[in-house]
Amino acid sequence: MVEDTRADVVVVGAGLAGLSAARSLLDAGVEVLVLEARDRVGGRTHSVEEADGLVIEYGGQWLGPTQDRVLGLVEELGLGTFTQYSDGDNLQLTDGARLRYQGAIPTGDPVQAADLIDAMVELTLTCMEIDPARPWDHPLAAVLDSTTLETWISAQPYSDGAKQWVRTLSRAVFPAEPGEISLLHALFYFRSGGGVEKMIGTINSAQETRISLGAQHLSHGLALPLGDRVRLNCPVTRIDRSHDDVVVHHDGGTTTARRAIVAIPPVLAGRIRYSPPMPGVRDQLTQRSFMGSVLKVHVVYARPFWRDAGLSGHVTADTGLVQITFDQSHPDRTEGVLVGFIDSHLGRTASQMSEPDRRAAVLEDLVRMFGDEAANPIGYYERSWIDEEWSRGCYVGMMTPGTWSTLGHALREPVGPIHWAGTETAVIWNGYMDGAIRSGEDAAAAVLVDLAAHGLRTEAAR
Ligand SMILES: Cc1cc2nc3c(=O)[nH]c(=O)nc-3n(C[C@H](O)[C@H](O)[C@H](O)COP(=O)(O)OP(=O)(O)OC[C@H]3O[C@@H](n4cnc5c(N)ncnc54)[C@H](O)[C@@H]3O)c2cc1C
Repeated sequence: MVEDTRADVVVVGAGLAGLSAARSLLDAGVEVLVLEARDRVGGRTHSVEEADGLVIEYGGQWLGPTQDRVLGLVEELGLGTFTQYSDGDNLQLTDGARLRYQGAIPTGDPVQAADLIDAMVELTLTCMEIDPARPWDHPLAAVLDSTTLETWISAQPYSDGAKQWVRTLSRAVFPAEPGEISLLHALFYFRSGGGVEKMIGTINSAQETRISLGAQHLSHGLALPLGDRVRLNCPVTRIDRSHDDVVVHHDGGTTTARRAIVAIPPVLAGRIRYSPPMPGVRDQLTQRSFMGSVLKVHVVYARPFWRDAGLSGHVTADTGLVQITFDQSHPDRTEGVLVGFIDSHLGRTASQMSEPDRRAAVLEDLVRMFGDEAANPIGYYERSWIDEEWSRGCYVGMMTPGTWSTLGHALREPVGPIHWAGTETAVIWNGYMDGAIRSGEDAAAAVLVDLAAHGLRTEAAR
């Protein structure tokens, strides 16, 4: 049925950003409608109760210190949490060797360790010079933005093993090949998360805490008070705008509103048709935005057997499809679960393999890490985010080299009555759930100021 609806503000996307924006607006007495393409809320978070009640976190899952907005929401919604298992040694598989270490940076090879500490200090100190709200203002922005992270890595006097580990880190964190992103983007991203170590470690870092029922419950909690103001199965295809109105066309009809908040990744925002068309700089920006390539796999065992060998389950490897793993077991359950990430070019390769071939390759990687017992799982779950129509990749959208310094200013700038949100627009914890929530709240605040400045009374006030 085609339906014409009205609201004060229409929000495109029911991920954490869109729902946070909608809730802030509702709290301020503004009538809001959220249009979501999928048949569910939560976007890049998706927590599914699979066989025997085991929750599989197909999307975002970890929280960490300084992620105050998401931690605040967890508390407000009364969601239970647990700490990421990290007892025992981590493993680094490097150049055929299998080295044990503890903490965020591998220390099994002293020469490599010295190089890696140097790299982490250098990147962290330099990133603190970037204003994450305006990376293009850095005096060397043009130079940093025309240098790829790979150029920087190759130019360092580090051992081959250390360089390889920084490349693995690039795939795991951004997630992109170091040749795909500029040094300016890398520094912006590290700065936004508070420094390299805050982002790559477990305890006291971004992989510290998980939500017991699954991270998607953040979105369920946000959506509850919105009720039928959240419309599922409504992909937005076109937005017409005038000075003070938008008409949003979606598969279920049209919605007319004073303002729109488009809370989806820039690359997907660029696929919506706008009338009149977007200004050239905004479209050029979305043309130069791309999503990371990730497959996330869960491999389930009868018990977490690796713990017997004093291993934490966290591995970084320089070969194979899966180059990063963590212990994904739930403290209330007996199964042992390993989560593996197939990132960047490896993700693109893996997405083209048949499911049985991919599963076999994943198990081969896990056997190399944890021994023969890893060959006999009792469950296997995977999700290729690049094949998801309404994400087209994850964890986050990035900019190609040269884009931040020339077009970055168009990322958050509203275009008439259209405002932008989504973790890609976040200044703090860009790319993370925390950043998504912040971006939604910021966009809602900007819309309220905008409506007031234009003397526009809201539906609720009429
Ligand atoms: C595998 C994976 C692991 C991750 N790990 C972590 C982690 O451990 N910690 C962390 O903090 N973050 C993690 N992230 C990132 C985190 O999930 C995201 O940053 C966050 O969920 C993004 O929220 P968002 O609202 O900005 O965007 P999204 O969640 O992408 O929401 C956008 C919504 O818009 C919808 N949409 C798209 N196009 C349209 C359209 N045309 N019309 C209508 N609706 C549309 C989509 O369906 C989606 O629901 C991970 C993500 C993935 C996928």
